[in-house]
Amino acid sequence: MRSLLITNIGELTTHGPQGTVQHAAMVVDEGRVAWIGGAGHLPMTDERLDVEGRAVIPGFVDSHAHLVFAGSRAAEFAARMAGQPYTGGGIRTTVSATRAASDETLRANTARLVGEARRQGTTTLEIKSGYGLTVADEERSLRIAAEFTTETTFLGAHVVPADTDPDEYVRLVCGDMLKAAAPYARWVDVFCERGAFDAEQARTVLRAGIDAGLRARVHANQLAQGPGVQLAVELGAASADHCTHLSDADVKALADSGTVATLLPGAEFSTRSPYPDARALLDAGATVALATDCNPGSSYTTSMPFCIALAVREMRMTPAEALWAATAGGAEALRDNEIGHLSVGARADLAVLDAPSFLHLAYRPGVPLVHTVLRNGEPLCTP
Ligand SMILES: [Zn+2]
Repeated sequence: MRSLLITNIGELTTHGPQGTVQHAAMVVDEGRVAWIGGAGHLPMTDERLDVEGRAVIPGFVDSHAHLVFAGSRAAEFAARMAGQPYTGGGIRTTVSATRAASDETLRANTARLVGEARRQGTTTLEIKSGYGLTVADEERSLRIAAEFTTETTFLGAHVVPADTDPDEYVRLVCGDMLKAAAPYARWVDVFCERGAFDAEQARTVLRAGIDAGLRARVHANQLAQGPGVQLAVELGAASADHCTHLSDADVKALADSGTVATLLPGAEFSTRSPYPDARALLDAGATVALATDCNPGSSYTTSMPFCIALAVREMRMTPAEALWAATAGGAEALRDNEIGHLSVGARADLAVLDAPSFLHLAYRPGVPLVHTVLRNGEPLCTP
């Protein structure tokens, strides 16, 4: 691979030892950040990219997305906006549509959403199964997800399918379904919530996944306080996701552990629910990530900039905290220390913004500010 000099960077956010550098330049070699410096004494490289004063940030790490599905729930959204509450039961609507869809339809829908995400600066994307809920349909969802990312998550324990005994279903998830899913999955996840899976069922699913060589992450405390966060910490899960309803003990448990609190404000936006208390988590010292939760029911957005804007406006995160959470925080939630930052040696996954500073991500909500996206130093999206 040819070496690339990126010049005339107005503001470079590294999330590394060099912090934020004004009037910066960067060399990318072999897909990695090889050098960072000021505007003078630029190294010789094979190629040059003049970004004309624009800001450069690490590529977004969206560590929580449900992209393999078919169908639309726009009508459910409209009903909710007209006053109906969100319960999570609509998942079964998407399950029916997903089972009925062809591989080609699922693949095309996933590709469309991955394309959207990339154009908005996302360079790493986690994709979950969870709309198949049969052995064959969960395997198929993960096989398709694995065509787009290595960060694939088995979420057979999303909801109990209609007309199925819950304990029997948990046995299926931990048995034949896990066996079929594991070759395509890196992570195991469970929706630990009233109406989905209780603590004992969730523990059983996660333990089975861990025994099969997967690593754990948990949908926890989205709709009410419950055992999800404590279970995630107990099992050493990489991340507890949602964290919308936390007790003081939950906040302390997250702060005292290596489990990342992944906040998904698109879900609160789209279900018109109270946002998580990001300040309590940050002030207690917990590691916070931001992700989209992209799914057709409760958060149909692929936009990390939108989530940053929500985090700043609605959750009182500073713009710098929100950017860190959407990049380095997501990387911690995926246990990948090569991404989410632009230190020398890191993977050259980055976004060039059509703005002089990353502050504009929250300052100019809804505006497409991503100009160019590189992954491993190669163009992923160009204007
Ligand atoms: Zn989710």
